[in-house]
Amino acid sequence: MKKLEFRYLITIIIIVIGISMIVFSFFIMFKSQNIYKYIKDDKNYNIEITCERAKIKELDKKIKETVEEEKQNFITQAEQDKENQEVKYKLLIKGKVNKYNNLYFYDLVITTFTKDNHYNKKSIIYNYDSINNKFITITDILKDDKSFTDLSLISEHLVNIYAKNHKLKIEKKNIKEGTSPKEENYKKFYFNKNGLVIAFPLYQISSLSNKEIKILIPWSNVNELLKEEYISEIGLNREKRDISKYKNKKVIAFTFDDGPNTETTKILLDNLNKYDAKVTFFVVGSRVRDNKEILKRAYQEGNDIGSHTYSHKDLTTLKNKELLKEINKTNQRIREVIGVEPIYLRPPYGSINDNIRNSTIMHIICWNVDSLDWQTKDRKKIKKEILKHAGDGDIVLLHDIYKESVKGALLAMEELQKKGYSFVTITELAELKNVSLKYDKTYYGF
Ligand code: ZN
Repeated sequence: MKKLEFRYLITIIIIVIGISMIVFSFFIMFKSQNIYKYIKDDKNYNIEITCERAKIKELDKKIKETVEEEKQNFITQAEQDKENQEVKYKLLIKGKVNKYNNLYFYDLVITTFTKDNHYNKKSIIYNYDSINNKFITITDILKDDKSFTDLSLISEHLVNIYAKNHKLKIEKKNIKEGTSPKEENYKKFYFNKNGLVIAFPLYQISSLSNKEIKILIPWSNVNELLKEEYISEIGLNREKRDISKYKNKKVIAFTFDDGPNTETTKILLDNLNKYDAKVTFFVVGSRVRDNKEILKRAYQEGNDIGSHTYSHKDLTTLKNKELLKEINKTNQRIREVIGVEPIYLRPPYGSINDNIRNSTIMHIICWNVDSLDWQTKDRKKIKKEILKHAGDGDIVLLHDIYKESVKGALLAMEELQKKGYSFVTITELAELKNVSLKYDKTYYGF
């Protein structure tokens, strides 16, 4: 080998090593900015701290203070017990941050191993809103007290489903207690792209579960409960109206099943404004794709969209797998069109049981006034039937796939309006009647 070539080779090797070292030190520097690490291995104890930095001044300061305090307390105890220490003490602190938009959710897990082989694990949570620059609790993100009640109802229901799926025989009253609307029950929460996650720490609900119980409340269900600034922009833009003018007035919810239908649903939508009316549609999943424009319009004009299952079968006759398919496939089809999943389910034929209620997080809505439209198919008779039975807080059953039903409903609205009634969606009706919807109940009226 020539001397010159050898020298080239050496130079290249040195350059490569040099560049790698620079890259590596940048990497270390970058990493150390993201993570706070502390390791100490003393004669009597060892400490290992690994905490992600949130890069939010206030939050990182708080974490540091907490970590320092925990560390000092631990060292003090270790020093005190030094003389008659039987085991080596350990302190392990791990900090992780979840971020969603302007919100930071910091979870600090502190594990100690001390005197008498005592093992202790606890978790401290700090939630921080970086736009308003403040630490937040669950009540800070919720609209009002009723939202907290509603949140606790859906949490209770989801924990019940969790227990069922994980074959944990947790007592119902423990679930109710652990999910009741108290701030201390809801310390650990965070948002992600799917919704609000709530984690119930070990032993809060039951010692039967050997890990925390984590539930997800989808955006479709949780948005209604949140303050404006925490709502996730999902779904199409939608008309919103102020319903305070209907408070303590007579209201009725008109509901329309078996659609959507491009022709007949249109006639209804074209006329609802005359009566300042919003209604609820329980749509059949298999009809959604062929009638999507009218469904979109119904939603955007402020009407409620619920599910009437995919193929209109009697749900009580189905095996679980098929039951879930009927529900989930419809929800997915509706989401394709309006961007959100429905939260109300009207079982075909009003046929329902506990198993169905316990398999879904949808509210079950039936009716207490049957217009018998599918039988008579006559607008005058339909109108008469509604007028004969409908009163404040009632839910009227109709089908928007028949022109006569639509016409009959509009004729009834005209009369009822003269008598001082207003026409609202299921969501509005529940809100006006101050009802927190439960998951183990079927609603026939409010
Ligand atoms: Zn039906």
